[in-house]
Amino acid sequence: MVQWALVLHGLCTATVVVSFLCGQWPIFEGTFIERLHYFLTFGAYDYFLRFVGKIFGSRAKNCVLGVERYCCERPNPTLQIFYLAIIGVTYVIIAKSSFKYIPGYYVGEYHKYLSVVAVVVGLVLFVLTSFSDPGTVTAENASRYISAYPYDDLIFVERECSTCKITSRPARAKHCKICDRCVARFDHHCGWMNNCIGEKNTRYFVAFLFWHFLICLYGAVVLGLILAGQLQERKIIYILTVYYGVENSFSALFPHVVQYFLASYNAQILLTVFLGIISLLLAGFFGYHAHLCLTNMTTNETFKWQDYISWKRKVNEAKTSETALKESLNIMNGTTPVPQSKWRTFCKKSPLQKEEPIVVNNVYNKGVFCNIYEILVPLSQRRSFFHSKDA
Ligand SMILES: [Zn+2]
Ligand SMILES: [Zn+2]
Repeated sequence: MVQWALVLHGLCTATVVVSFLCGQWPIFEGTFIERLHYFLTFGAYDYFLRFVGKIFGSRAKNCVLGVERYCCERPNPTLQIFYLAIIGVTYVIIAKSSFKYIPGYYVGEYHKYLSVVAVVVGLVLFVLTSFSDPGTVTAENASRYISAYPYDDLIFVERECSTCKITSRPARAKHCKICDRCVARFDHHCGWMNNCIGEKNTRYFVAFLFWHFLICLYGAVVLGLILAGQLQERKIIYILTVYYGVENSFSALFPHVVQYFLASYNAQILLTVFLGIISLLLAGFFGYHAHLCLTNMTTNETFKWQDYISWKRKVNEAKTSETALKESLNIMNGTTPVPQSKWRTFCKKSPLQKEEPIVVNNVYNKGVFCNIYEILVPLSQRRSFFHSKDA
């Protein structure tokens, strides 16, 4: 009974975590996960606000809204503290529950120290991403950034930043409303880092994602090896087959072994599942950002291209319907002869098929190697940047 309660608990936790973090992904469209995501991100908060308003009055509701404004619209360390708490608590739970099995049958003593090094490296990357300059655009360096990132006249045209009054905001830069500054090669504002991810710190951010994926995978694998070691040290397979008469095959032993683990090592099982899920999510997130880096694109630009494509599509549709209208008017007026053969009319391309293809022409994509080099050594940290013309 206890075992099933634990399994249920694990499944519920996994569903909630997956729905919360990736419920808006296209693969979950129309599913229960998407509805749960909406409830967790908007619905639950909306109910909570109404509840507070009804029970405690409008002053309490305004107070909650004030907290929301502080957390979502201004720089604040809430999520940074949350990240440190998750890392700290998970590490302490692992150390308290599982370090007693190290060294074990499959796990050497050195893992105690290696795990500390792994976490410390993770924290260093966190500090670097959180507290480094993402590439703030100022009146002094704007012209150099314009030379480094010229306008493509498709998704970036020369225009002033109305907030910080930089006359020509460089291409790829964006004004972050939360930090109130223009950031070069702006990717997104990261709440976890309480910082923008931009030209100068994308390298730390991507390294942070990759390293945390590795740490979680490492933790899950070591915990798995600890469990496998316990199976060997306590001769569980021997006891099950010889004393309990269980058939010596994988399918026969598997349920008994799972039952044994859930009864005696539930902390390790839950930790392994938790780390496994987080590492999968991090792998997805890292994969997405690695793809962006390889193609020299930013999250901000993917949205801009989406807007550009839908705008271009509408323009094309308007053009084709205009041509179709002109053609039919010409036929009615007798300026264009009516096609005689039905077969010819059938073969003739309809105006809708004449549409010019819409392509993403990313002028900043310089090939995989140059793109990677640009992430590792940002343009603004190269000598050529300072030798470029000052407007
Ligand atoms: Zn600005
Ligand atoms: Zn920001």
